[in-house]
Amino acid sequence: MGTNAKPILWIVVPCYNEEQVLPLTAPMFLQKLQDLAGRGQISGNSRVLFVNDGSSDRTWEIIRELAAQDEHYLGICQSRNRGHQNAVLAGLMEAKDRCDITISIDCDGQDDIGAMDRMVEEYLNGAEVVYGVRAKRETDSFFKRFTAESFYKLLKGMGAEVVYNHADYRLISARVLQHFADFEEVNIYLRGMVPLVGFPSATVSYDRAERLAGKSHYPLRKMLALAFNGITSLSVKPITLITTFGIGFSLIGLVFMIWAVAEAILGNTVAGWASTVCIICLLGGIQLISLGILGQYIGKTYLETKHRPRYIISARTWEPETRRYIEDDSSDPADKTCSP
Ligand code: UDP
Ligand code: MG
Repeated sequence: MGTNAKPILWIVVPCYNEEQVLPLTAPMFLQKLQDLAGRGQISGNSRVLFVNDGSSDRTWEIIRELAAQDEHYLGICQSRNRGHQNAVLAGLMEAKDRCDITISIDCDGQDDIGAMDRMVEEYLNGAEVVYGVRAKRETDSFFKRFTAESFYKLLKGMGAEVVYNHADYRLISARVLQHFADFEEVNIYLRGMVPLVGFPSATVSYDRAERLAGKSHYPLRKMLALAFNGITSLSVKPITLITTFGIGFSLIGLVFMIWAVAEAILGNTVAGWASTVCIICLLGGIQLISLGILGQYIGKTYLETKHRPRYIISARTWEPETRRYIEDDSSDPADKTCSP
């Protein structure tokens, strides 16, 4: 490792039907790479990687044109539309063996590209993951802000660890991504999964702007699906809730049973009423508790099927803790330029 080796940064940009905005934002990403490299913070071999998520417009053609224009632009194309989360994952996995750090960012200019400087600084100061956090949501509609913020609270309540007001604008080191690759689940919710990997992290706040052009691909339906996926992928707490309800209903049922028997003894009821009420209360409670217990087993099976790593080692006393930067002037240029 050379003494002046600098980290190679890959900016990972998911793109779905973004022909309107891509020609505007692509040069901004490139400019940022050049600024950072010019200041000596990253290697000149850094890249912008566009992930075409099965667009039906000219997005892929634009990406190919960009790649032909400048070697710093790279593109990969998914065989079909798989959604934002999968597009980001594909890009990160593609990048992880070819760079030292990645920054994932939307291609619509909503995430402030300027925050990358602080992200890289945090990385150089020791953070392996740097979360971009929205300082304010003034440009979002009240509805979007309200639903998004309630969602973070709900997720937290459901036992999933997420960084408040953090979307998918973040820096992740290649080292963390190597471990992240061991999370083999197919239902992915990146912002909930990245914290599971651990390692030192930091946050950087930024103001979220309006889309530069084009329109959002996240209508309410997709947002709700993402929210539901977030909860069910990260937590089996909803199942535990069934058990809790079961115990609660059983206790209430017990009170009702005592009341029904008392009413029957006092002669305030028609024949057979008390016994019917007792059976309903008893069965209702037993059924919910049984469902809950079954659910606990299903929940455990569910977590087992994810084959998540059981531990991740971040350091060993017999290994130096220095970061292994991919050489700036490696003798084998094919290693790093990754020309398409
Ligand atoms: N995106 C994607 N696949 C999809 C939908 C969106 O790769 O199926 C990309 C999109 O091109 C953009 C980012 O994900 O770069 C965020 O999408 P968008 O801006 O539409 O969502 P919003 O910011 O409105 O939540
Ligand atoms: Mg957007």
